[in-house]
Amino acid sequence: MGLVRILTRFALLLMLVSSALAQASTNIENIRVWLAPDNVRLVFDLSAPVDHNLFMLDNPRRLVLDVKDTRLGVDVAKLGLTKGPIAGVRTGRRDEGVRLVLDLSADVSPKSFQLKPNDQYGHRLVLDLETGEQPVAAAVSQPKASAPSTLGPLRDIVVAVDAGHGGEDPGALGPGRIREKNVVLEIAKEVARLIDAEPGYRAELVRSGDYYVSLRGRTLKARKINADLFVSIHADAARDKRARGASVWVLSGRGATSEMGRWLASKENSADLIGGVGSVSLEDKDEVLASVLLDMSMTASQSSSREVAKRVHDNIAGFARMHKPYVEQAGFVVLKSPDIPSILVETGFISNPQEAEKLSSSSYQKQMARAIAQGVKAHFWERPPAMTRVAELKRSGAVIAAAERTYKVAPGDTLSVIAVRNGVSLDDLRKANELRGDRIRVGQVLRIPAS
Ligand SMILES: [Zn+2]
Repeated sequence: MGLVRILTRFALLLMLVSSALAQASTNIENIRVWLAPDNVRLVFDLSAPVDHNLFMLDNPRRLVLDVKDTRLGVDVAKLGLTKGPIAGVRTGRRDEGVRLVLDLSADVSPKSFQLKPNDQYGHRLVLDLETGEQPVAAAVSQPKASAPSTLGPLRDIVVAVDAGHGGEDPGALGPGRIREKNVVLEIAKEVARLIDAEPGYRAELVRSGDYYVSLRGRTLKARKINADLFVSIHADAARDKRARGASVWVLSGRGATSEMGRWLASKENSADLIGGVGSVSLEDKDEVLASVLLDMSMTASQSSSREVAKRVHDNIAGFARMHKPYVEQAGFVVLKSPDIPSILVETGFISNPQEAEKLSSSSYQKQMARAIAQGVKAHFWERPPAMTRVAELKRSGAVIAAAERTYKVAPGDTLSVIAVRNGVSLDDLRKANELRGDRIRVGQVLRIPAS
């Protein structure tokens, strides 16, 4: 090979390298938008971390985001970013970077932070636009007619139903496109519907759509509505696809009772990194405050938590494989309301193909929701808080059927004997438990329908 040819090739290579370097600025690969009742969040997927600058301008009111040394690799017009207070989106070049202008239809307080890559996404820039105080996620149904009473104003029992994760935080991922955040929202909606339909109860969804709520924000919402109970609903994933089983959790006083509990708690809790640097440090302060408060008022709500958890656990055990034959304990942040009894239900492993298939089916979601709602109602029927409509209903004996009757199958039982003993028809008993044949197993918990 002649010297000239070598030099030519070298020069060519040099040109290629230098032109690649000239274009080596960061790329904005995608922008996602999540709309919550009290904020809208934009998430920019980046090829690398960026320098950015955020400021507001008036007349008309708009928010400007300058991202330095960056190219826009996506057509903003096609992303449907005009949601909530965002009335319009314009983009342009600014020096060597991208300028994004958001036209606003309402006052917002903007906040931005960057996130490091995780197993789902790469580098991200998050832009949060708080739209101020909004009512908690809409009540599930219309206010109910109040029952006649002799005791003056009676209140409803309030249950906060919390679907884990949401928005930028998908939670556990299953085969196909199964995501924990979607599965648990469906189950949570059904739980809330079932509880809300019961006289004397009001259920509120902590999150009613696909957006993120910080772990602290979840317990705050429960407190804001004066919840008598907080129920957090999740689904699990493990590297080992064979892992399976539902589980019910309460907060542990001192550390988790199992390795699984420690691991699960750290996984569920780490979701809050998505809340940004600010909320993480807040979370730390909360820990200190919580540990003080915990000692003071934890005992009472802990025993209620355990009682509800036990009922829900037994109900789910009636049709699903359980991870453990008892209620487990771990240090979940969402369970740390010292004054509100709280439980967390892991409805199964969506990393397990069989459980994923069940959890994504509407009938199984409903069955799971029924087990949770019935456990909750049975608990409050047993121990209704004072001055509640349920306490009055129980006292007056007005609604015998309010408490779901259940029966745990003992050795030697047959379905027809159970039916006779409980004064219901065999057919109604089958229907209430979604049984096709007459096969039951020892320890199975059956619903006894109102006769
Ligand atoms: Zn979860």
